[in-house]
Amino acid sequence: MCETWDAVTTYGRLRASGTSRRRISAQVASGALVPLRRGVYARAAACDTVRMAAKHGGALCCTSAARHAGLWVLAPEGDVHVWMGGHGHAYEHDGCCCIEHWDDAQRADSFGQPSIPRMLRQILHCHGVEDFFVVLESALRQRRITDAGLAWLRAATNPTSREAIAYARSDADSGLESLLRWRLRHHGLRIRSQVNVVAVGVVDLLIGDRLIIEADGASNHDDLPSRHKDRMRDANAAIWGYVTLRFDYAMILHDWETVEMAILTHVGRGLHLAGRAGR
Ligand SMILES: [Zn+2]
Ligand SMILES: [Zn+2]
Ligand SMILES: [Zn+2]
Repeated sequence: MCETWDAVTTYGRLRASGTSRRRISAQVASGALVPLRRGVYARAAACDTVRMAAKHGGALCCTSAARHAGLWVLAPEGDVHVWMGGHGHAYEHDGCCCIEHWDDAQRADSFGQPSIPRMLRQILHCHGVEDFFVVLESALRQRRITDAGLAWLRAATNPTSREAIAYARSDADSGLESLLRWRLRHHGLRIRSQVNVVAVGVVDLLIGDRLIIEADGASNHDDLPSRHKDRMRDANAAIWGYVTLRFDYAMILHDWETVEMAILTHVGRGLHLAGRAGR
């Protein structure tokens, strides 16, 4: 993430704010300003994705802007989503992996990033409602979206997103929790994340009272010490009457049918509820 609010600037803007031509040249020479193309500069503190978007002719938007803003994003990092506005101009550049967005709105110049509600609408259209829901709950959690922003979003999107907005909460602790709550929403389960379970520690998700869901893959669970630690956690959980299901992120994202069936089979046997097991 860039450590400056105006990561990308232009010759015109610099001149308008009183920077002399000589000072601009001096800043280019010292590396404080990095020319991206004619008349467009990145500040030294600008990160690579922001520079890439500016080279392409726009600003980060959609999931790229959400990730850059510190919100949870399901889609893996890779493509750079670039907001061209309604009248932008796309430029060729080396290493381009840009996905262009052309929705129009007023902004100061081509390098202004979208507001969080607009970002969310871009995500809805570009990635679908699940990604939208996860970023939305993250924005609510961080108090980054206002009631007015939500009202705009309701008016500017579709019934599916309105269902997601109605269902969203401001206390989700992880993107994984948001995703599982959304996908399991018709089953009326209580799902919490980052719960501190006695003798086990903090678990990824707890369904009901006793069903622990661990999602491996965010950090490395494959080396021997981690594997040993995971086995110890599972054993301790069992001793204290918990049941653990362990998935990796790839399964959750790409083989949801299997994950859902495993969870719902346990739930069907009442294994998520206190005091109903052992028969
Ligand atoms: Zn940045
Ligand atoms: Zn996009
Ligand atoms: Zn590009």
